[in-house]
Amino acid sequence: MKELRFLSLILLLGFLISCSKKSDNENESQEKPVNKAGNLKGSGESANDILSNANFDKLLIEVAYVKNFKPTDATMDNFVLFLKEHSFKSTIEIMYKELSSLKEETLTLEEINELEQENRTAYNNGKTLAFYIFFTDAPSDEDDEEEDLVTLGAVYRNTSMVIYEKTIKKLSARSFFITDEDIETATLNHEFGHLFGLVNLGFENEPESPLKTKMVNPHEDSEALNHCTTNGCLMRAELSFNQTNKSSKNYTQSLHAGCRLDGVSLLNSLEKSLTSKSKAQNLGIECIRDLQANGGR
Ligand SMILES: [Zn+2]
Ligand SMILES: [Zn+2]
Repeated sequence: MKELRFLSLILLLGFLISCSKKSDNENESQEKPVNKAGNLKGSGESANDILSNANFDKLLIEVAYVKNFKPTDATMDNFVLFLKEHSFKSTIEIMYKELSSLKEETLTLEEINELEQENRTAYNNGKTLAFYIFFTDAPSDEDDEEEDLVTLGAVYRNTSMVIYEKTIKKLSARSFFITDEDIETATLNHEFGHLFGLVNLGFENEPESPLKTKMVNPHEDSEALNHCTTNGCLMRAELSFNQTNKSSKNYTQSLHAGCRLDGVSLLNSLEKSLTSKSKAQNLGIECIRDLQANGGR
């Protein structure tokens, strides 16, 4: 009996020590080593955390841009309005980080990911959910300029996005009516729509996750997966390159772009909707329903 008591005392002591160790580590992690785990999930997997205020009540958006490829202030104002329109976040902070030219002809997603590891400083901390958006001066390596297939932006993790700003500037120069701001806003809002989990995006290994942005009514395009069939919706299929050929099975194996936004289609749709420009930059009713069902406004 005595031995047993002694044993339980040792166990209790061991438990107390391991607990205190844990809390030491937690305190340290706020000071020195950054915990990146919350920012290494798949695209769409922080949808609920973005939309509702349950776990996070502030968004911190780090905008890294190559010199001369910074988005306009008006674009960022439009983007913040879009975030406030669909989420319950009222505190949204943008921080800028200027980078020197990459001097690259094109960039692969792997290279973009490496650059993020080098340059990103904002990670989730306490009740702040952090994002990294990279405005680059090199186009996507998957573009085919002769065929006029150019990518404007892509998401590749729950809080990571690339915007091909050089491609945006080239495209807006082709149009008399459409500005950098128009294309930047549509691109940012569309790509962020994917981080909201649109359409039916994320949790490939856990489709029934309560945190997934599920479809209230079916509206996912059968060919351009994770895009919408609603006319006029910012997430609609015609704006994206068809992704059905890219196996969605190995999402977790390698870095995977949840979306590649088609520059020419976007320009055409912005020009078509000149008389009611807002239409090209807003979500349709089915997408809004999905967001509201996952904690959105
Ligand atoms: Zn897309
Ligand atoms: Zn939609």
